[in-house]
Amino acid sequence: MTVLATAPLRRGTCPGLSAPMPTGDGLLVRLYPTGTISLAAFAALCAAARRHGNGVIEVTSRGSIQVRGLSERSAPDFAADIAALDIAAADGVPVLADVLSGIGAEEMFDAGALAADLRRALAQRAISTRLSPKVSVAIDGGGAIGLAAVAADIRLGAQARDGNVALHIAVGGDESRAAPVGTVALSDGVRTAVRLLDVIAQRGREQRARNIVAAEGASVFRSAISDLLISDPVLDSRLRGNGRKMVSPIGAHALRDGSLACGIGLAFGHSDATVLEQLADAASDAGASGFRAAASRTFTTIGLTAEAAPDFVIAANKLGFITRADDPRRRVIACAGAPVCASAHIASRALAPRIAKEAECTIHISGCAKGCAHAGPVALTIVGTADGCALIGNGSARDAPFAVVPTGELPAAIAAFAKKREAGHV
Ligand code: SF4
Repeated sequence: MTVLATAPLRRGTCPGLSAPMPTGDGLLVRLYPTGTISLAAFAALCAAARRHGNGVIEVTSRGSIQVRGLSERSAPDFAADIAALDIAAADGVPVLADVLSGIGAEEMFDAGALAADLRRALAQRAISTRLSPKVSVAIDGGGAIGLAAVAADIRLGAQARDGNVALHIAVGGDESRAAPVGTVALSDGVRTAVRLLDVIAQRGREQRARNIVAAEGASVFRSAISDLLISDPVLDSRLRGNGRKMVSPIGAHALRDGSLACGIGLAFGHSDATVLEQLADAASDAGASGFRAAASRTFTTIGLTAEAAPDFVIAANKLGFITRADDPRRRVIACAGAPVCASAHIASRALAPRIAKEAECTIHISGCAKGCAHAGPVALTIVGTADGCALIGNGSARDAPFAVVPTGELPAAIAAFAKKREAGHV
């Protein structure tokens, strides 16, 4: 495995290969792949997950890969097996680039290249030791599959400006909620991100951009890059997105070389190593070159021909993967829950398929109030508590519930919520 940038990992907060995190089903490790994983390397990763762990593999909302069920004895062997594979991965401050960076037909600049430059700059400054491990940067190159739904502390997004590409800067949230800061030249992207991360680091290791915006406003970020700004944030917020139509990562997307990428979803963010090996076989049969792990709990298959793509989609569908953007399972977000996570009061993941059948809006099922699987608000959040399932309307796992019901009454409670919602009462 090629690690592109390194920084010390803190045990229990950022479970990389060198610092697995204890969970209810053993140790968990997380990889941040930064490019296409060849099908051979992907199959070898799956085999190692089966051999050394319990075979459960997850893709997170940010597009990292998690392998579960390792032990103190097997984790070093797993790390050694993965290190021998040709998988480019990153460490340190999470710097996310859109999934088709460098290969997408519609991108305005290569977000992956800028992300790599930024990781190198951050590694030299060892800034990750001064930041919460949750602090992240999202770089969106303006292609079809963007990062609009992914929350990040610092956002850099492609913006057309006078025939050139500039970077729209925002802080503290997903694209719709982040506070606009202004626009900088593409060539100032690394300098801008480093300075904005410094603003967060200066306020303490527990700080996040959204908290700073709430307490002090976005002006502290604006001041830090005032000499780099080329336009004001009010104008930028109107121009943001350049009228780009956002599409689901699920489905086919054109690549610059004339081939196709095909996004498929993992139901409730997880799958089994053996099934994923079968998916790699199907991709190989269809002539694909590899997979990219992507935000929103998806894998994107790279290098399909228009003729072969439908057969791959049929095979992926048969294996239980999500191949349609309107699949009801995409409406339900679930954490691992009990018994996998020791903090869980409910079996969130096991409940998810049943809840997906009832779901007419986005529902987040969280085993406890920590809300690991989704930080932001959704139409209905269900939180496991010692007293039952807390129901929260239009809020997040940390908000106040409107009701608490026993797990067995969840389907009826969800149906009642849907009726109220339809009638405009929530
Ligand atoms: S939200 Fe709670 S129960 Fe679910 S994985 Fe996180 S800590 Fe565990």
